[in-house]
Amino acid sequence: MLTTDIMYLKGVGPKRAEKLNKIGINTIEDLLNYFPVKYEDRRVLTKINNLDEDKKYLIRVKIIQEPTVQKLNKKLSILKTVGKDETGSVNIVFFNQVYLKDKIINGEWYYLYGKCKCEFNRYEFTSPDIENAKSAIRIGKIIPIYGLTNNLTNNEMINIINNAIENNISTVTNVLPNELINKYELLDKKDAIRFLHFPPNGTKYKLAKKTIAFEKLLILQLGLLYIKRRINHSDEGLVFNNDILCNKLIESIPYNLTGAQSRVIEEIKSDMGSNKTMNRLVQGDVGSGKTVVAIVAMLYAVGSGYQASMMAPTEILARQHFDTINEYISNSNMDIKVGFLAGSSKSSEKKKILERLKSGDIDILVGTHALIENNVEFNNIGIVITDEQHRFGVRQRAMLSNKGKNPDILVMTATPIPRTLALMFYGDLDISVIDEMPPNRQEIKTYSISGSKKSEAYDFIKRQINEGRQAYIVAPLIEDSEKLELDSAEEIYNTLSNNYFKDYKLGLLHGKMKNSEKDAIMDEFYSGNIDVLVSTTVIEVGVNVPNAVVMMILNSERFGLAQLHQLRGRVGRGKHQSYCILVNESKSKKSKDRMSIMTSTNNGFIIAEEDLKIRGPGDFFGTRQHGLTEYISESLIGDMVTVQDVQLLSKQIVEEGCLVNNKEYKNLKYKILCLFNDENIVFN
Ligand code: ADP
Ligand code: MG
Repeated sequence: MLTTDIMYLKGVGPKRAEKLNKIGINTIEDLLNYFPVKYEDRRVLTKINNLDEDKKYLIRVKIIQEPTVQKLNKKLSILKTVGKDETGSVNIVFFNQVYLKDKIINGEWYYLYGKCKCEFNRYEFTSPDIENAKSAIRIGKIIPIYGLTNNLTNNEMINIINNAIENNISTVTNVLPNELINKYELLDKKDAIRFLHFPPNGTKYKLAKKTIAFEKLLILQLGLLYIKRRINHSDEGLVFNNDILCNKLIESIPYNLTGAQSRVIEEIKSDMGSNKTMNRLVQGDVGSGKTVVAIVAMLYAVGSGYQASMMAPTEILARQHFDTINEYISNSNMDIKVGFLAGSSKSSEKKKILERLKSGDIDILVGTHALIENNVEFNNIGIVITDEQHRFGVRQRAMLSNKGKNPDILVMTATPIPRTLALMFYGDLDISVIDEMPPNRQEIKTYSISGSKKSEAYDFIKRQINEGRQAYIVAPLIEDSEKLELDSAEEIYNTLSNNYFKDYKLGLLHGKMKNSEKDAIMDEFYSGNIDVLVSTTVIEVGVNVPNAVVMMILNSERFGLAQLHQLRGRVGRGKHQSYCILVNESKSKKSKDRMSIMTSTNNGFIIAEEDLKIRGPGDFFGTRQHGLTEYISESLIGDMVTVQDVQLLSKQIVEEGCLVNNKEYKNLKYKILCLFNDENIVFN
């Protein structure tokens, strides 16, 4: 059965099951749906005289030298041997795999797959995948490579998944009704799963991928559409009708709102003034002035007798919003009470805030995820705002809105998302775009340099510091490993403090620091006591230090363009000319193209569209996002035609009521309910 505990699958057992559980695989069905992140093409055998450096190859060799083991120290041993085919010979080296000494037999034939290096005019394979030629099963095929495997080797994963397919694939049933499978020329689910793990060829792989992506997207789209329908159909939404406070605020601000800000405020007010519950996404580039729009919306609620709340993804950002809101409010002489709540708030303080919140003494509550905890009770919450939404999931948003009776919802995002993607992931929201920057914004001068020019960039930063400015240096992004990322930030910090910048004050900021430590460093930077802040991407969102004028990003080729754009938005916030220096360590054309998009425009929407074309949609959400975005993995989507097809189809399915009365759609309906199990979807 597909729901059988993974422990009972042949070749798994309790120990491996535990490891699998840690990566979210609990049942055989989970395992079957744990798709590879990439593949290795091991169909072609290469002769040794055709090898080229730094590429991966499959070769077939006869071992011609008894393997020797050398123990270099307690942690490191090297096994060496030599293999040859009829065209030449190669060195073969393994690190810390002493057990192979007895398995590699002099005189026998083996297949090796791995990267080939050239040293002293001789090719060498380092720790290749090795199989005895007599029993080899991983050759002549396309081999799946699984992402996170939690200490299981890729070969173990392959075997386990192979077992699951052999024993259980026959019980897999189609989620999609046959009419859709036929119409869109998709595969049967059984084949799609099989071919996505073990593609027999490129064509079948593409079809399999399309089938799985189609199914997942359809489930997502239909779920979101039904949520939106439910919300728009319910007449129980709050009606806000007193805009005295928001008008007062608008009169008190020292600048004129841009046309885009005014338009979006009108869209929001019209939603809030109606009895439908607002569900609106406000998209606006970094610096486009979203904060004041959010404050106006909150004051519309407060003026009409309700409370408002605003949730930000990091404490730094939440604190900054809190300060900004207080500043605007005190400038406009209004008697409005703003509270702050974060995980690190002292428990005595927390208690006080929670009491005042419940009694209605606090008008606006600003904070982090702490706002959605169970003990947070509002007196009468009217509007819930989440900033930088793509970092929260639909569920977190729902949890916050569940703290009241259908409060209005406003979602702010600074990551410009191309429209198709916005529709895909925010299908349940109406969208407003602030597509105009406040006047007199300076252009941030952006340069892309190669690694060898770094020292010149450091000299440039020093000259800026000597003129009284400050700078950021962002450490390379290392996906999936906060630990490595931390090492690299620390290492860069140490290196720079000891040489290039030894006469300057450097600070280090990373995600593993306690919030209090982070705040302390940010305060130091803000007050000018730190000249250069070396940081991981924790500074990405929202940080505002107007005196910082240089943003230097190391290994910028590893970042998504949207993220680079976010980082760049940390400078250019004051009156001084600002600069962004992208250090591109890659020589590939793709990287160069991407960097030239960054140097040619400051417009986040253009950048987003271009990045979508080059890298596909997954990158917009990174691997660390929660909620629904996790459900669709980066490698699954990439074909925008499918996305558009699915959007049209879902609307049609809703309109025709297929989920309500067509038995063929039963499995699809069930999957939607599973994905959105806390959303209370009603099919009608
Ligand atoms: P973001 O959209 O990135 O959240 P903010 O709301 O932080 O942008 O605004 C960035 C800066 O621009 C702030 O200092 C804000 O006071 C200022 N600002 C916002 N709107 C305008 C405007 N219409 N004219 C001039 N400055 C503005
Ligand atoms: Mg903002």
